[in-house]
Amino acid sequence: MAEGQFKEGIAGGRLAPAQYAENFSDLHPPLDHHEALVESDRCYFCYDAPCMQACPTSIDIPMFIRQISTGNPVGSAKTIFDQNILGGMCARVCPTETLCEEVCVREVAEGKPVQIGRLQRYATDIAMEQNKQFYERALPTNKKIAVVGAGPSGLAAAHRLARHGHEVTVLEAKPKAGGLNEYGIAAYKSTDDFAQAEVDYVTAIGGIAIENGKALGRDYSLSELTKSYDAVFLGLGLGGINALRAEGEDAAGVENAVEFIADLRQSSDLGKLPVGRRVVVIGGGMTAIDAAVQSKLLGAEEVTICYRRGQEHMNASEFEQDLATANGVIIRHWLQPKQVIAENGKVSAIELEYTALKGDKLSGTGETVRLVADQVFKAIGQAFEPAALNGSGASITMEGGRIVVDAEGRTSLAKVWAGGDCILGGDDLTVSAVAQGRDAAESIHRALTSNGRA
Ligand SMILES: Cc1cc2nc3c(=O)[nH]c(=O)nc-3n(C[C@H](O)[C@H](O)[C@H](O)COP(=O)(O)OP(=O)(O)OC[C@H]3O[C@@H](n4cnc5c(N)ncnc54)[C@H](O)[C@@H]3O)c2cc1C
Ligand code: SF4
Repeated sequence: MAEGQFKEGIAGGRLAPAQYAENFSDLHPPLDHHEALVESDRCYFCYDAPCMQACPTSIDIPMFIRQISTGNPVGSAKTIFDQNILGGMCARVCPTETLCEEVCVREVAEGKPVQIGRLQRYATDIAMEQNKQFYERALPTNKKIAVVGAGPSGLAAAHRLARHGHEVTVLEAKPKAGGLNEYGIAAYKSTDDFAQAEVDYVTAIGGIAIENGKALGRDYSLSELTKSYDAVFLGLGLGGINALRAEGEDAAGVENAVEFIADLRQSSDLGKLPVGRRVVVIGGGMTAIDAAVQSKLLGAEEVTICYRRGQEHMNASEFEQDLATANGVIIRHWLQPKQVIAENGKVSAIELEYTALKGDKLSGTGETVRLVADQVFKAIGQAFEPAALNGSGASITMEGGRIVVDAEGRTSLAKVWAGGDCILGGDDLTVSAVAQGRDAAESIHRALTSNGRA
């Protein structure tokens, strides 16, 4: 135990130095060769496989598992990458328990699905470690495309466009590429700088130039891009966060959970990263779980997630909720923040009000509870920041705060496509962002080569 363990307030060094590496090691260690063969043997190679239907990128799952079982992991990786070039990251972060593995016939029959995610990781790791590049670029088309945002949607779009022979420039506001793969995904899901390794793997195809520190709306406008490029893909993600709407929420110690996770992901010494002794996380999704679990792993003594509805309404899957409780996080339901209590400008407690459903409507009951806290994380959802689109010269159609696109990813503006978290109707998953980036790229390619709209 380190000296800092019981220090009041927000402090670093709560654990002994060696404990950090252990706490933040791989959540699902990779399968070895023998384990992969045994696991692949459990697959029934179903016709019309339900797992494949449940995958947002429609990977041919029975095919890639058969390739593993016949000793061809590299061929298996190609089957995965044909549909999802970020198959390595998706194997690590997909909530498979609510996608492919939930509908696997072995889950339905025996309650134990084939471990599709871990098999996918097995195959893609082998191909990436050997730097097997499966795709050659088509002959140059002399078309130039700007991709704004180097997250999963932007990278998937860039790779597919480069494959078709187009010249792609990826303009990214942050110093590193990868989007939330680099700055958001929990550290124990993506270890050993995998996000950067994947960016390098994806861009190795050629024809993709990434320019960092280039923010749309600050350094250039959408109308400038549409003038200079044949097409534009927007994969901007969600840069803003929703407010707690609780009195006193600007007190020191009330923080954005996504920023805390980004600092954690970029930290070279987790022992120096400050965390509260008593942490309260407000929210019920993956971000809330990740902030809570990682606070605990950094040595916070008490971590409580407060969610305003019931367990069954939480966006975080049952697996994620179990992960939190297994790490000692307390999850409390039917509580909404009312007031942040501060002493000398720093949060010292949070008052929450019990809630109840009256018909479909959630309302406060008037009864309150106070939790002592020296750090409060806001994890109640992110929002699209439309300011980036200012100066476009024409307005793009938005609804519910997100960009409206058609089935192919086309926005209301000519030459402009969009995908990933910033579009209406997305489900805020890495794999869906990849699917939307890939499909928009195909649409752009069709439009550019058939002399269509773009
Ligand atoms: C904390 C957290 C944990 C998550 N965990 C999981 C998980 O375990 N599994 C899962 O499937 N999903 C998870 N998600 C969701 C997943 O990360 C997203 O759905 C996915 O990253 C969306 O990809 P994207 O390309 O649309 O956006 P992003 O990944 O957000 O990438 C957008 C990129 O655009 C850049 N950008 C933004 N504005 C501008 C601008 N004006 N100019 C230039 N560049 C700009 C950003 O810097 C960023 O690099 C998590 C999300 C969060 C917040
Ligand atoms: S549903 Fe399960 S058993 Fe059937 S093909 Fe998919 S992984 Fe294999």
